[in-house]
Amino acid sequence: MILKLKQQLSRYFFFFVASLLIPLVGFFIYAARVQVDFFPFLSVALFVDVVVLGVFYRRLKKKKAVVKIQREEFFEKSNLLRADLEREGATIVAFREKIVSYSQLKGLLEALSMSLSLEDTAAVLCKKVEELFDRKDSTVILYLIDPAAGGLAIAYAVHRHRCVTIKMKQGDIFDRWVLKTLKSLHCEDTHNDFRFDVDLLNEEGLRPVRSLVSVPLLTDNKLVGIIRLDSLLTHRFDVEDLRFLKTIGDVAAVAIENAQLFDRVEDLAIRDGLTGLFLRRHLLERMAEELTRHLRLDRQMAFIIMDLDHFKEYNDRFGHSSGDIVLKIVSETLKGHFSDPGNLICRYGGEEFCVLLPECSRKEAADRANEFVRFIAAQDIVLRRDSTRITVSAGVAAFPQDARTREELIQKADAALYEAKKRGRNRVCLSS
Ligand code: GH3
Ligand code: MG
Ligand code: MG
Repeated sequence: MILKLKQQLSRYFFFFVASLLIPLVGFFIYAARVQVDFFPFLSVALFVDVVVLGVFYRRLKKKKAVVKIQREEFFEKSNLLRADLEREGATIVAFREKIVSYSQLKGLLEALSMSLSLEDTAAVLCKKVEELFDRKDSTVILYLIDPAAGGLAIAYAVHRHRCVTIKMKQGDIFDRWVLKTLKSLHCEDTHNDFRFDVDLLNEEGLRPVRSLVSVPLLTDNKLVGIIRLDSLLTHRFDVEDLRFLKTIGDVAAVAIENAQLFDRVEDLAIRDGLTGLFLRRHLLERMAEELTRHLRLDRQMAFIIMDLDHFKEYNDRFGHSSGDIVLKIVSETLKGHFSDPGNLICRYGGEEFCVLLPECSRKEAADRANEFVRFIAAQDIVLRRDSTRITVSAGVAAFPQDARTREELIQKADAALYEAKKRGRNRVCLSS
């Protein structure tokens, strides 16, 4: 627009000069050839022309200066508008990113609220974090505080959407740093970070991690665990990644605490308060599942039922609380004796216990029961400086030789136990 105005002014100036000078030149030629007396008049006219042109030129210059200022103002305004637009654009991009992360967090929250147990929560959390960050070369590791050991214990690890086994079960130097400081950690290159001595990683034969982000999972200033994302390449995570992981960590810490509570409540519902063994209800449920599995796989399974001998007398003689101590000792001995994975030890009733032995033959179960009965009989139980003894009787039945249903298996083992009692106690009888 300004350029157009400038062009217009130049054109006007040209016409103006031409309209004054062309007639003058004409008259000048006429005067030179026809009327020489015209010269003084022409000189005056020429002088007036030059003065008029000078005045006009000065005005034009002023106008030009105004136009220049207007042009500069226009450019300044357009620059400001452009800067505003860029700012608006950046804000829109930031908003869009925020909306994306909020919807991702919503997805994570929904997934976490669907999982109740600690095992499920840990798996869902790691898989979701892996999905949200979507870095092909990174590994997500979740550590939880192990109350027994008082340190970290690996709960779950994911690499490329798959659960992986990680060697550093109790964490490495980076996890220990987070555990000690309770601060989040962002490390772009572990080899150039003065806080860590990476030679220790090599010495311990651990993964040569080059960059990571790690956050402590805190609820009411109580540490429940650590979640971290690491890579064997440098500079794989930025400050934004750490910020996002922190937000996830806040949500995850609450979910993990809830899952731990859920597990504890569930444990209380299926375990006996005195001995910590499973209750009969849980045994019956598991027995039904195991029977179906063994039937499908065509495998043997054994069931032992035990009862303390003359326990009423023991109670009468040493007191009920001494009887409780004996029940606890017998339970602990059972846990140690039948500790193979998959075995299910349960307090069946008052002073009755039972053990379900998956993929175990009748003979093997009878041998194990005999060993146990002998061990208990030989054990001194010291109560208030009195050395006492207790004996146990046991009945063994097996699937599929003795029984094909849960009820039949229990009933057959119970009958064998009755037989052991009848034959004088402190012994094992097999179902006939
Ligand atoms: P048997 O050899 O025939 O099994 O004789 P018993 O005395 O063990 O049999 P009985 O069934 O007559 O007695 C079981 C006793 O176990 C009675 C009860 O006081 C005791 N008992 C059951 N539950 C508990 C418990 O939780 N604590 C204690 N201290 N005693 C219990
Ligand atoms: Mg009994
Ligand atoms: Mg008894």
